[in-house]
Amino acid sequence: MTQTLTIRRPDDWHLHLRDGDMLRAVLPHTAQHFARAIIMPNLVPPVVTGAEAAAYRDRILAALPEGADFTPLMTLYLTEDTDPDDVAKAHAEGLIHAVKLYPAGATTNSASGVSDFSRVAAVLGRMAEIGLPLCTHGEVTDPAIDIFDREAVFIERVLDPIRKAHPELRVVMEHITTADAVDYVMASDRNLAATITTHHLVINRNHILAGGIKPHYYCLPVAKRETHRLALRRAATSGDARFFLGTDSAPHTDANKLLPCGCAGCFTAPNTMSILAEVFEQEAALDRLEAFASRNGPAFYGLPVNEDTLTLVRETPDFPGHINTPDGPVTVFDPAMPLHWTA
Ligand SMILES: [Zn+2]
Repeated sequence: MTQTLTIRRPDDWHLHLRDGDMLRAVLPHTAQHFARAIIMPNLVPPVVTGAEAAAYRDRILAALPEGADFTPLMTLYLTEDTDPDDVAKAHAEGLIHAVKLYPAGATTNSASGVSDFSRVAAVLGRMAEIGLPLCTHGEVTDPAIDIFDREAVFIERVLDPIRKAHPELRVVMEHITTADAVDYVMASDRNLAATITTHHLVINRNHILAGGIKPHYYCLPVAKRETHRLALRRAATSGDARFFLGTDSAPHTDANKLLPCGCAGCFTAPNTMSILAEVFEQEAALDRLEAFASRNGPAFYGLPVNEDTLTLVRETPDFPGHINTPDGPVTVFDPAMPLHWTA
């Protein structure tokens, strides 16, 4: 039985670090394992311009623990007023690595997102020209659409038309949750990839709703039925270069999770690598963990694979149930299964 597993150091292609005290509390948990991360721009107010992204990057670097080796890969929040020239300049300077599309109202702090997709056509055209990827929160916000169908409807109504209008645009479907999304990625031959979170490989909607409501498993896009979870596991563990890790680790304090209208998000930064090793071993695919966590992402983003490595050891890990922050405790995602790998 394999006792240690050494892989190129992983990256996280979708991460929420927040700001201020919360940023300082959660960043060390990501920097401990991950060399780089695509940083989500949905602060309040959102990170919309190159200047705001530069300032946020500097706050992240200032919050890093002594000696940590971590590079934040910044993104801009796409609005209907986004200036194509500002986007192109921030990309040319090496500051930003993607632009994030949130349909207005889709998730935490997405009120400034896009309602009228025709109003962002010029920005998307420029991004296609310069090879800057668009990351999508792939859910429609039409209240008439059932929450469990919002990803599939987004593909049909929003994503496919955007890709047909801008065939050279490189797109990352973020945190996919359905077999529909897996199939859509598999049917494309270029310019399309998807990230998959740690928690969507582990939970289905029963974890949230059966036997009492479990707010700590509530995330967006919401976990779907078991057939979809299994499709995600097959995609993640397949080694297919179009699928890679984006944890979507999203800290909210327990006080904000445990409300009558609680926040969406799972905080997985501390235990993601242990959970992934468990999932990949269950699927007899430990040899493909490196592709998913360390190789496929940089290949899509046109970046080198990390030179240094991460070694996992077959030892029962010991994770706290929560971390303490000045804003209050943040619960660490509970995979509801024994873990056997320590990173
Ligand atoms: Zn997210």
